[in-house]
Amino acid sequence: MSLELHVVVLGAGYSGLACATRLARRLRAYDKVAITVVGPSPRFTERLRLHAQAAGHASADLPIEELLDGTGIEFVCGTATNIDTETRRVTVETLGQVRGIEYDTLVYAIGSVTDTAIVPGADQHAYTLNSPQEAARVARKLAELPDGSQVTVCGGGLTGIEAATEFAEAYPALRVSLVSSGEPGAMMGPRARAHMHRAFGRLRVTVRSGRVTKVLPDAVEIGGTGLLPSDLTLWTTGVRVAALAAEAGIGTDAAGVVTVDPTLRSITHPDIYAVGDAAAIRQPWGAVHGTCQSGIPAGAHAADSIARELHGGVPKPFRFGYFHQPVSLGRHDAVIQFTHHDDSPGRFVLTGKWAVRYKEWVSSTPPVTFVKMKGLFGLLRPTGMSKGGRATRKPYRD
Ligand SMILES: Cc1cc2nc3c(=O)[nH]c(=O)nc-3n(C[C@H](O)[C@H](O)[C@H](O)COP(=O)(O)OP(=O)(O)OC[C@H]3O[C@@H](n4cnc5c(N)ncnc54)[C@H](O)[C@@H]3O)c2cc1C
Repeated sequence: MSLELHVVVLGAGYSGLACATRLARRLRAYDKVAITVVGPSPRFTERLRLHAQAAGHASADLPIEELLDGTGIEFVCGTATNIDTETRRVTVETLGQVRGIEYDTLVYAIGSVTDTAIVPGADQHAYTLNSPQEAARVARKLAELPDGSQVTVCGGGLTGIEAATEFAEAYPALRVSLVSSGEPGAMMGPRARAHMHRAFGRLRVTVRSGRVTKVLPDAVEIGGTGLLPSDLTLWTTGVRVAALAAEAGIGTDAAGVVTVDPTLRSITHPDIYAVGDAAAIRQPWGAVHGTCQSGIPAGAHAADSIARELHGGVPKPFRFGYFHQPVSLGRHDAVIQFTHHDDSPGRFVLTGKWAVRYKEWVSSTPPVTFVKMKGLFGLLRPTGMSKGGRATRKPYRD
C-alpha cells in the first residue's frame, strides 16, 4: 500500500492535538493517510493549570501516547529544529538523535511563550509559567520563602491575575503584589472587575500601578516610582514565538507569527497550515489573540480542511467568535466574563462556586476531548468544532 498523504503536526499542545485527533477520526476509513505529531515532551502540558501547579497544586499525568492510543497517530518525542519547505522535510531532534521527517501537509502548532526579553533582567531573574518544569521551580521557591517575603507578579492580564490570587491563597503568610501598567483585567467588564478586586482584597493581593522597567535579583524597578523589593518575581506579560517558521522562509508577521489566509493556510506555503498561538489569524471583527479557546477550534478546522481536500473539496474559511474569559481567583473563587465574538465583555458574569465549576470544566475538557474525538466523532456534526467559541462548546461538553 502506498501512502497518499503524510500529515505532520508540529506541536502536541491544545491546537496540535485537536488537529491530529480530529483528522484521525475524519480519515478513520482512509488507510492511505499517515499522521505524525511532534512534540518535545512525552506528557501533555495543561497550560491552563500551570499557575495552580506553580502554587503547589498537583496536576494530572497525561502521557501523549495514551491520549493518542488507538488513533493510529505516530507520536515523535522531539523538537523540530528546521523546516525545509523545498524538500518538505522537517528536522527533529530527539534524545541524542537527529531525524528527518518528510511531509505532504504540515500543521504548524508550536504555540508561544512568555516574552522575557521585554525588559532587562526579566530573562535572568524572573520566573515564568512557560512549562511544567518552570511551574515546578516556582512551586519549590514559593515553598521555601520565609513568611513575610515579597512575591511580585508582573502583568495584569488574565495569567497574572490567576497567578497572584493562587499564590496569595496558597501562601497567606507571603506578601503578594500584582504590578500592572494598565488596570488589571482591563479586558473584562465592570462587574467582573469589581468581583476580581474583592478577591484581591480578601486574599490581600496588593495591586501596584506602573510599568516594570527592569527586573533585579531581589527587586523590580517600576518606572517613575522606584524599586519594589521582590524575593520571587513572576513574569507573565507579553508573548513571543519561535523563529522556526521565519527561518524556513514561511511568511510571518513582524512578531514571527505565521500569516495565514482565511482557511488557515500559510499565505506563502499552501501545503502548510498554522493554528493556535503560532498563527496570525484574522476574522471580520479583528485579530484572534492566542487562547486555548481559539486554538482548539482552529486545529479542528485545519483537520477538516485537510480531510476536505483529500476528498476533492476546497477548504472553507475559519469562522470563530470568542465566548468567555474564564479567570480563576484561587481554588475557591473565579469570575467568568461572557463576551461578544470580538472578546469585548458582554452583560453576563458568573462568580463564586458556579464560576469555579465552570472554570474547572474549561480546564479539564481539552484532554478529555482529544480522547473522545477518537470515539465520539460520529455523534458530532462534521464541522461543529470549526465555528468558534459559541458553536464549539457542544462537542467539548463532558
Ligand atoms: C497560566 C495560563 C493560563 C491560561 N488560561 C487560559 C484559559 O483559561 N483559557 C484559554 O483559552 N487560554 C488560556 N491560556 C492560554 C493557552 O494556554 C494558550 O493560548 C494555548 O496553550 C495555545 O495553544 P497552542 O496549541 O497554540 O500552544 P501550546 O498549547 O503551548 O502547544 C504548543 C506545543 O508545541 C510544542 N513545541 C514548541 N516548540 C516546538 C518545536 N520546535 N517542535 C515541536 N514542538 C514544539 C510545545 O512544547 C507545546 O507542547 C493560558 C495560558 C497560561 C500560561
